[in-house]
Amino acid sequence: MKILADVYDQVIKRNPGEPEFHQAVKEVLESLEPVAEKHPEYVKAGIFDRIVEPERQVIFRVPWVDDNGTVRVNRGFRVQFNSAIGPYKGGLRFHPSVNLGIIKFLGFEQCFKNSLTTLPMGGAKGGSDFDPKGKSDMEIMRFCQSFMFELARHIGPDTDVPAGDIGVGAREIGYMYGMYKKIKNDFTGVLTGKGLSYGGSLARTQATGYGLCYFMDEAVKAKGKSFEGKTVVISGSGNVAIYAAEKAMQLGAKVVAMNDSNGYIYHKSGINLDTIKLIKEVQRGRIYEYVKHHPDAVYTEGCKGIWTIPCDIALPCATQNELDGNDAAMLVKNGCFAVGEGANMPSTPEAIDVFLKNKVIFGPAKAANAGGVATSGLEMTQNSMRLSWSFEEVDSKLKGIMQNIYRNASEAAAEYGEPDNLVMGANIAGFMKIAAAMYAQGITY
Ligand code: NDP
Repeated sequence: MKILADVYDQVIKRNPGEPEFHQAVKEVLESLEPVAEKHPEYVKAGIFDRIVEPERQVIFRVPWVDDNGTVRVNRGFRVQFNSAIGPYKGGLRFHPSVNLGIIKFLGFEQCFKNSLTTLPMGGAKGGSDFDPKGKSDMEIMRFCQSFMFELARHIGPDTDVPAGDIGVGAREIGYMYGMYKKIKNDFTGVLTGKGLSYGGSLARTQATGYGLCYFMDEAVKAKGKSFEGKTVVISGSGNVAIYAAEKAMQLGAKVVAMNDSNGYIYHKSGINLDTIKLIKEVQRGRIYEYVKHHPDAVYTEGCKGIWTIPCDIALPCATQNELDGNDAAMLVKNGCFAVGEGANMPSTPEAIDVFLKNKVIFGPAKAANAGGVATSGLEMTQNSMRLSWSFEEVDSKLKGIMQNIYRNASEAAAEYGEPDNLVMGANIAGFMKIAAAMYAQGITY
């Protein structure tokens, strides 16, 4: 980095102890160096300095009472990163690892991702260090209500529209939506990922996983390859992983391994997705239970070993930095030719280097997993129109959006001299629209 080195130094100084945020900013600024050279007007207008600083960050206390009557306190966050191209939009994550730095990295990435969808959505992210694991339904409900009691004053259908993420699915969205409606006395599309009976969109549940496969299908086709007959390894067994597996299978691939944070299953003849859905979506259980249903599958404790399983295509769909340089080298050694990021920032910078150097077709998260937020954008549109589209209609729009994202990222990469580098292409394509909007709107105080 030359022109943008000072911007990065300032980020490090101003945001100590936030390694994930530093990592995300560094990757983007490195890609944007040639843009800064070509557009001195953006440098002069401070676009780069402004884009790395959230517009607003809210941190709040979330008190709630557990089933034993004990008062518990968690911390809530909402980082409203950028509203240049639309209302803030981004998910809520409930996981014990959540802290300000993680929410900021996610919010920063979200800005570019939302821009890539071509829909009018700014970037945000939020959540809490609350751990939903092992909590009763009533505890989850009380926590969600307390969380929304504060969040409600910061969001709105034209201001900020949160959605789900790790630990926040349809159940949590339902509890939060009920509380928002009670506080505001307003039936509006203020959250996405809602149930179908109160304004949700068909295909939202499937969207991130399906979208990932639509994107990767386009990317591998451009290199004369396909999913047909290929072996696929997918990390995670949550919302993104399950529907990535479903679409990969529909495209003719065989999914042989999945995991959760305890361990992974390897089913050489092909994973039975109905069993995974039963364990994860219905019973909210652990993945080791899979081998009780399918004794020919093998369970191994520890989730990292999943990357040692030979595959043609790998789809990391669990969490950030789950795939490091050694894992990437192992995948390459075993013949993996394509990697698509379903999770946000699952590959470390070293892993991405290995993939790019070895000409692995690499779909970076902000492009490859944008299908979820794109469909959330379509949910917002349906709510505004007070209409519901069919599954097929939403799914075909999603497919078109993912194909366009691939095309735009790939064209931007080519324009800036690195045709196969979709990391660079996605960062540049996402940035250009936000930069143009910020530039046009002036330096707002
Ligand atoms: P879920 O909560 O449904 O599932 C998360 C999965 O990842 C679970 O299998 C979980 O295992 C595993 N996991 C979570 N944290 C860790 C960890 N620290 N180490 C190992 N495994 C872990 O979340 P989603 O499927 O919604 O989200 C997965 C990823 O996709 C996240 O990075 C999210 O930001 C990203 N994403 C999600 C979108 C969506 O629409 N849902 C949209 C775009 C991106 P366990 O059950 O054991 O915790």
